[in-house]
Amino acid sequence: MYGDSRAIDGELFWRCIRLIARREDREMEEVMEIGGFSRNSKERRMPRTAPVLETAAIKFRPSAQSLIIPPSSVMATSSLPPKHTQVLVIGGGPAGSYAASALAREGINVTVFEASKFPRYHIGESLIPSVRHYLRFIGAEDKLANYGFVHKPGSAIKFNQFKREGYTDFVALGHNNNAWNVVRSEFDQLLLNHARASGAAVYEQTKVDAIHFDPSNPDQPVSVSWTHTPPQALPSPPASPTTSTFSRIFNRFSNAEQMPQVNGPVQGTTTFTRVIDASGRAGLMSTRYLHSRRFNASLKNIAVWGYWENVKSYAEGTRRSGAPWFEALTDESGWAWFIPLHNGSTSVGIVVNQKAYNAKADSLPPPPFSDQQTENAASTLAARYLSNLNFAPGIVDLIGEGKLVEGSVKTASDFSYSAPSYAGPNYRIVGDAGAFIDPFFSSGIHLAMTSALSAAATICASIRGDCSEALAASWHTQRVATSYTRFQVVVLSAYKQIRSQTGDVLADIDEDNYDRAFAYLRPVIQGASEMGARLSESELQKSLDFCVKLFDPTTPEDHERASFMNGLSRELLDVSTPVIAPEVLEKTLDVEYFGQSCDEDSGSDTEKAIETKMVLHKVNARRVIHSEYAINNMELENLDGYAVRLERGKLGLMKTSPTTAH
Ligand SMILES: Cc1cc2nc3c(=O)[nH]c(=O)nc-3n(C[C@H](O)[C@H](O)[C@H](O)COP(=O)(O)OP(=O)(O)OC[C@H]3O[C@@H](n4cnc5c(N)ncnc54)[C@H](O)[C@@H]3O)c2cc1C
Repeated sequence: MYGDSRAIDGELFWRCIRLIARREDREMEEVMEIGGFSRNSKERRMPRTAPVLETAAIKFRPSAQSLIIPPSSVMATSSLPPKHTQVLVIGGGPAGSYAASALAREGINVTVFEASKFPRYHIGESLIPSVRHYLRFIGAEDKLANYGFVHKPGSAIKFNQFKREGYTDFVALGHNNNAWNVVRSEFDQLLLNHARASGAAVYEQTKVDAIHFDPSNPDQPVSVSWTHTPPQALPSPPASPTTSTFSRIFNRFSNAEQMPQVNGPVQGTTTFTRVIDASGRAGLMSTRYLHSRRFNASLKNIAVWGYWENVKSYAEGTRRSGAPWFEALTDESGWAWFIPLHNGSTSVGIVVNQKAYNAKADSLPPPPFSDQQTENAASTLAARYLSNLNFAPGIVDLIGEGKLVEGSVKTASDFSYSAPSYAGPNYRIVGDAGAFIDPFFSSGIHLAMTSALSAAATICASIRGDCSEALAASWHTQRVATSYTRFQVVVLSAYKQIRSQTGDVLADIDEDNYDRAFAYLRPVIQGASEMGARLSESELQKSLDFCVKLFDPTTPEDHERASFMNGLSRELLDVSTPVIAPEVLEKTLDVEYFGQSCDEDSGSDTEKAIETKMVLHKVNARRVIHSEYAINNMELENLDGYAVRLERGKLGLMKTSPTTAH
């Protein structure tokens, strides 16, 4: 594949460097010195006929005291990857871009290698509001908020065709608490550009082919080999901060006809002191080297989706406008999504249990659309997709007379997976590279950012000496596993409801992670029983039954009514207070607020009381996931006696209580 790799003409490269240096001598000299170059030095000349690219060597001396590392090399501004970087990030998706931005803003020398050329297509369009908090920390919230993505004020979920849909109102917690539905190619491009603007050196079309480990410590990665296809045009905006020496040089490059031009791929190696694997589902570290990926038995699904035009929209003209619609399939085989996007198209997908998808293939009803609506959908995949939409009548209704965009049907095996560990000596694994949970709760980007921030904080902690590298790595693993387990339990509870089945669920949950994720929930679920016993099937089922209340069909009006109900304690409606045992909540409500004989009453008062109870149970269930929603949870939630110090310039880990030495 790489047989035609070409050597860079070293002479041309050096001519270019000399030319720039002549234009602004003093500054250029400084930069070349930092980069380990000397104008007269012959020793760094690259052999003209080298079969593999040798990029300019960098004398890089990381300092334990300071995170401020001088620009790594002149090469970082050209299309040529550096020979060394302090932190290498593999993959420029949301997880990689986020980690790179957070680290670069701490003054860390960080380089991103991204295999594709952005913008590139990606699925995963519905965000949750926590993403805003994460973006705020890296200074990207306004960029995203002002871009023009569809404002997502909440989301609608219909589990049962005989009941109204449930609606989660994000903006009830503040008008700025909305999320967005995003066209991922644009969202991901914005984030990658933000990493550039924050100071990261980003190399697109740079695929990491292999990771190499320290021969004396085989668990510790030390370098990567890569294949890089130099861009035809310079990336825009500049690949470096606008105020730095980097960018002034970059701007000269961008005006200079002497920018080295290389046609075709080149290969090289880059050493690093730390690496973050953000390679998405490819998951280089866990699939190729650690062999640690474990698939969830009960979530072996397939996703098929396409894009539609001229469809209706859910709750048009109301304050719910823009909210995506999720719907359980009536044959209990899975669920479907309907997500309006700002480019005029609407993403419509199904997620179906793989076995059920195959089993019903020969008995599917004809598609519920006219030939004109789907005229170019000739493939078997498209035909099965369209027929499966029969089981989502709400979505068929929303599609109305809409038309399927030609060639837009795509599929992905949607298997959920995790791993026993997401870090080791000098490496962290983030986003889908480590773990993936079924998209029912739209948690993918949230988990990508949580793990990316955890990776950045633990790397800073280890460099700054807040704790040992071993503790920092273990902290990262615990952080990722805890967040993952919370969403996993919520998603499994939804599946339990969708499929009316319970099989296999226990096998999927890692009990240790469960304990950590739900330390506060477990005694409630167990009632008065002792902590410490192994998690039993019935306890887990209780947890799932508890969490599924999150999806109860309440409306914002019900919530509003509850908040105005006389005598109702404010605490009962506050998601940030501790979880209340369901039995205790039920008793309190009956005795104190609704009277014992609520059921015997008749008419609309009874209905209202039932609705209000449903609201309070839903708020109670929200508490299990609420801690995930606020970024300051990273500061509050103690793992191993440490929490994140979430302060720009001081990002790291701080002790929260005496802890055992690692
Ligand atoms: C059907 C489906 C629906 C989804 N819906 C949602 C949703 O509604 N909301 C939500 O939040 N999430 C959703 N997700 C999940 C979401 O898409 C992912 O969680 C998210 O993209 C993870 O980001 P990431 O940065 O970890 O990985 P990615 O976005 O996949 O980025 C990884 C990057 O690494 C690069 N890369 C890979 N290998 C290499 C290499 N060797 N060298 C260099 N670069 C490399 C890739 O080119 C890619 O750009 C959905 C997922 C699926 C499958």
